[in-house]
Amino acid sequence: MDKISNNAELRTWRDHIPLDWKYTAGVAGERFLQLLKQGTIQASVCRSCGKTFLPPKIFCKDCFDQLTEWREVQGDAGFIYSFTKVSRKDADSPSPSQNIVLVKFEGIEGGLLGKFKLGREEPRIGMKVKPVFKKKDQRKGELSDIEYFERV
Ligand SMILES: [Zn+2]
Repeated sequence: MDKISNNAELRTWRDHIPLDWKYTAGVAGERFLQLLKQGTIQASVCRSCGKTFLPPKIFCKDCFDQLTEWREVQGDAGFIYSFTKVSRKDADSPSPSQNIVLVKFEGIEGGLLGKFKLGREEPRIGMKVKPVFKKKDQRKGELSDIEYFERV
């Protein structure tokens, strides 16, 4: 008996299974995205411990209190916490490399991922940035409604 060294020689079937699924962003997430569509970033606030969460949560992870209070995040309070450069060079999409930034805001737990403005400026950790929204009629209630973050 020959040793099978190629897994495809084992008894296999090739086919596909059609799958459909829908995710929701959850109660707080949906509200957050609808507010984003309006051009505002809102975080949820815990009245017991004062912590503020972004993306918003409906319960405080520390005191388990329900979070019903929301507060607008000041756009210019953002700073780059981390970033990575993404390069994609295929025949179909010869797009230039893009910097993806994790932006945190002073006094707020969590943060938002987004693109850094294309151009000559390179992001650096700690750089103060603000969100630039897409035009109102192009927003879809998605995180990408923030077109990019740029240096303040
Ligand atoms: Zn709390």
